[in-house]
Amino acid sequence: WDMRVADVTNGQRVVHLIDQTAHDAAERMRVDFVANASHELRTPLASILGFIETLGDEAGDDPEIRARFLKVMFDEARRMQRLVEDLISLSRIEADKYRQPAQPTDLAELVEDVWEEFLDSGAPRAKDIACDLGEDLAPVAGDRAQLSQMLHNLIGNAMKYGRADTPIRVTLGRDGDMLRLSVADRGEGIAAGHIPRLTERFYRVDSGRSRSIGGTGLGLAIVKHIVERHRGRLDIASEVGVGTTVTVRLPPLKTSTKSLSEAGVTK
Ligand code: ADP
Repeated sequence: WDMRVADVTNGQRVVHLIDQTAHDAAERMRVDFVANASHELRTPLASILGFIETLGDEAGDDPEIRARFLKVMFDEARRMQRLVEDLISLSRIEADKYRQPAQPTDLAELVEDVWEEFLDSGAPRAKDIACDLGEDLAPVAGDRAQLSQMLHNLIGNAMKYGRADTPIRVTLGRDGDMLRLSVADRGEGIAAGHIPRLTERFYRVDSGRSRSIGGTGLGLAIVKHIVERHRGRLDIASEVGVGTTVTVRLPPLKTSTKSLSEAGVTK
């Protein structure tokens, strides 16, 4: 604890007790985050600059080498773009933290839209997605764009880390008062010790592998923030060599505080 004494005008003393431990931890997290983000951006940037330099030399006269280098530079620039987009998403979601989402959102419709987007994008594993959308589920009070991003990230991970040609199951249903959405893959799975840390920014089980398949290490951190903003719960269950199921539970619109107060219901 840190104690600060402030004199007030009428001569009384006010003592502020500040929880220094929590403050220090938050500050350390912020510093780590900036350091990690800078490092993640510096690596592809250094590689692009190196290739530009080499292209300026004689190597740049060979059309084959030039084409190969341009392809690497394009991939590195795309990686930076994905990272910057994820960083922007994270900061937007954090800025919205205290604003309750309010658009009535039909999750089944949203899953179908995202599924179609994957099919249209020609993602090689889009055909492996199997949906079981239940029936007549209540809408959630949501931010449609954020819920769509949450689904993209979860299905995207199932595609990246699931075994080729095995199904990716997206299931919707009820669970007590909550709506349940789960995305399950059959794939490499995650060892139990890693699971509690997966939603930390830039935490990866295998950094080299995540990077080489285009991961930013921010996908699940973004999912966690979106779920929290929707007052939901996120659970990750996994078994190495078998697969992973990520489950999100969200409160339906009718039980949200907002709709109850709108309906004139008071406690
Ligand atoms: P990334 O961009 O690296 O995929 P995420 O935040 O989405 O970042 O996920 C963090 C890490 O969790 C990944 O690097 C990967 O090691 C692991 N992971 C996430 N989803 C799965 C999954 N469905 N199966 C196996 N591992 C997963």
